Amino acid sequence: MEYTFNTFDKLLDICGSENKKIYEVMQEKEACDFELDINTVRNKVLRNINAMKSAVKQGLNSDEKSLSGLCGDDCLKLKEKYKKNKALFGSLYEKITLYALATMEENLRMNKIVACPTAGSCAIVPSVIIALSEEKNISEEEQINLLITAGTIGYIISSKVAMAGAVAGCQAECGVASAMSAAAAVQALGGNEKQIINAAALALKNILGLTCDPVAGLVEIPCVKRNVFLAIHAITAAELSLAGITSKIPPDEVVDAMLQTGQLMSPLLKETSQGGLAVTKSGIIISKELNKRN
Ligand code: SF4
Repeated sequence: MEYTFNTFDKLLDICGSENKKIYEVMQEKEACDFELDINTVRNKVLRNINAMKSAVKQGLNSDEKSLSGLCGDDCLKLKEKYKKNKALFGSLYEKITLYALATMEENLRMNKIVACPTAGSCAIVPSVIIALSEEKNISEEEQINLLITAGTIGYIISSKVAMAGAVAGCQAECGVASAMSAAAAVQALGGNEKQIINAAALALKNILGLTCDPVAGLVEIPCVKRNVFLAIHAITAAELSLAGITSKIPPDEVVDAMLQTGQLMSPLLKETSQGGLAVTKSGIIISKELNKRN
């Protein structure tokens, strides 16, 4: 079916009038746009899920540092911590935080990850979908549905805001990934289409203005830990949405606000490493040491 939508309102209209789920609409759109059958679309999504799982598996067992030597052993530290003291919030929380660190550390080792929506924010969606799928015994078919729904959220936001820290700050990378994950989490927990989109809006509106200020220009500090925090942020948005707590600012308007916030943001805070954490005393020392080494 040839569906055209670039707003959440329009997507919800289609879901309502066609009596379809978000992932059904999106997979049909994708099949139509790229002249594929739906099974081919779903197999492509499954390949991405499998790549995400491989990154998690590999990352959970590695302490190889990044080329800079700044990061790479945090996942193992957290794993050790959980062996001795369980997380306060239980096993889902443990898995999400570990899987997010595992994936981001694989990214900085230059190993294979799925940019989701970007490499710098690659750990949020996988950690939420994989951890929830394990904890809730979610089938492979439903995991595909979850990733398609997450992708739909990203697709709509990207029709207004380019997903790049250099364009709109980290709200357009980790923020969008958190919104995508919140949507997937609501679906995994049985929420309806409105709740799915509302969760994305809740997640997004609470990170508006998030800057991109990577130390030494590397996607390491603060990116690695930020992925962990924003994965958990997604679960909070999902829980609120499932409780019927709605964003008083409609989802499409939240995206408009994100666009405007990105435009108002100083270029110093958009991946130039000329502001924020990158120019703190310690950020500058790290940067100079790396320059000397190179
Ligand atoms: S801080 Fe910048 S480089 Fe790091 S993940 Fe966010 S947008 Fe990407």
